[in-house]
Amino acid sequence: MKNREPFVDASDESIVASLAIFARELLRRESRRLLTGNGIPEQHVTKPLPVSRAAAADFVRMIELWVADRAGVPVAAPPRTCPACRSAVSDFQFLSFDLYPYHSCRTCGTWFVPQVIDDGVFEAYYARVPEARRISEAMMAGRDERTRDSDRGRFGHYFELLRPLIGDAAPRYLDIGCGVGHSVELASELGWDARGEELSDVAVATAKAKGRNVGHPGTSQPGATYDVVSMFETLEHITDPDQVLADAMRALAPLGIVVITVPNRSSFEVSVLRERCFHVFGGYEHVGHINLFDPRGLSALLERHGLSLMFTDGQFSSDLAQIFSHLTTNGQSVLSVIEKGQMEFAVPESAYTVLNNLGPASACLERALKRSPILIALACRTAARPQLAPAFATLEQRWHAEVEATLAAEGEALAASEDEYKATVAAMQGEIQIREDAIKLREDAIKLREEMNRTLETHLQAEIQKRDRMLEELRDKFNRTVGARMRSLIRALVRR
Ligand SMILES: [Zn+2]
Repeated sequence: MKNREPFVDASDESIVASLAIFARELLRRESRRLLTGNGIPEQHVTKPLPVSRAAAADFVRMIELWVADRAGVPVAAPPRTCPACRSAVSDFQFLSFDLYPYHSCRTCGTWFVPQVIDDGVFEAYYARVPEARRISEAMMAGRDERTRDSDRGRFGHYFELLRPLIGDAAPRYLDIGCGVGHSVELASELGWDARGEELSDVAVATAKAKGRNVGHPGTSQPGATYDVVSMFETLEHITDPDQVLADAMRALAPLGIVVITVPNRSSFEVSVLRERCFHVFGGYEHVGHINLFDPRGLSALLERHGLSLMFTDGQFSSDLAQIFSHLTTNGQSVLSVIEKGQMEFAVPESAYTVLNNLGPASACLERALKRSPILIALACRTAARPQLAPAFATLEQRWHAEVEATLAAEGEALAASEDEYKATVAAMQGEIQIREDAIKLREDAIKLREEMNRTLETHLQAEIQKRDRMLEELRDKFNRTVGARMRSLIRALVRR
């Protein structure tokens, strides 16, 4: 414990450098466990694959129907340019598991399907394949209840993040692409003047039935009056984000804040798993993630609308076990569900332990590097930048302090578990000793048996030879005695 480098430098050192020390320390400890694990029959931990929001069977059937309807060929739809920067120059990356070509923009790095994919594609599809419509509707039903708690948790986090920017006054709030309106419900409870807009008729009807202030786009109050305009996991589904951003700009107050969350193109998960990642799909039941932005791409999109990206943060952490499983078996991913009907993936127990221990530090690292699965982005009108800069600086400081505090807590927890760790290693080494003793005992037993066999064989050989000799002697004796007597008897009989 002496002379160890601190997990987090008290000075304003780089967070990443601190994490490197942390990871090195953890690996130093755990690598022994991993290595010794090789001598012990490996137990595996199985985990279910995160099959969308659907039951696995529904998911597999939906993909089957979709791929059959495509006849193995991607959707034919009009072309489109990069949704972030409008560049027409992009490079093909891969075909997603639901047969969409993904391109990477050569200018801003955004991944996107270079085609106009919208609700029309799915209306036509459902008209051709009624079974797909039935399953899709069944999957949608009950979604309100299934996602309500997790949605509220997430939106609460975003609203809290806004606090240094909006002060204590209740803001006027508009959520674009609000789905069934969980954001609107929560904001209203906080006393905000909240309103949501949503394209889907089913979602709007569900929201209204629950008394949430939700309507179709264009039905909110006209004019630049909203202090907060949000787009939570909306922009990745929109074939023309420019239209949505233009709507947001019309609604945004001069000093208003835009809050955006999107799946992060540069997350560990997406970067490593690529077309094998569950989050990279163009859509088999509705428009999927046809735009995958990172901070650079998102910034390019916002700038074209007179908005400045002022702050980014990450949320959640990549599924390390799934990434590990993918890297070591090259196949346990979304494709194993589709190709082999395999709903689980297995990870060696020792590796799982290490990954579990690494989890919190990895989440922190992803957050520090803006590589978390979900990217949170806050923006304001470029014209309002000078006025809002101090508030955003406060937010940035808070973020930095939070990341550092998380790291320090992880480091302390690691230091505190030193004794427990040593006990585990000692227990494992005891187990290895027992195994080694058992192996030696067995080897000795084999040697002993071989020795016995050899002795027995020699002994038997000698015995056989002895008996052979005895038999030979008996025969001679018989010939000499009984044979002689018989011969003289026969001679006497003949004489008579
Ligand atoms: Zn671009």
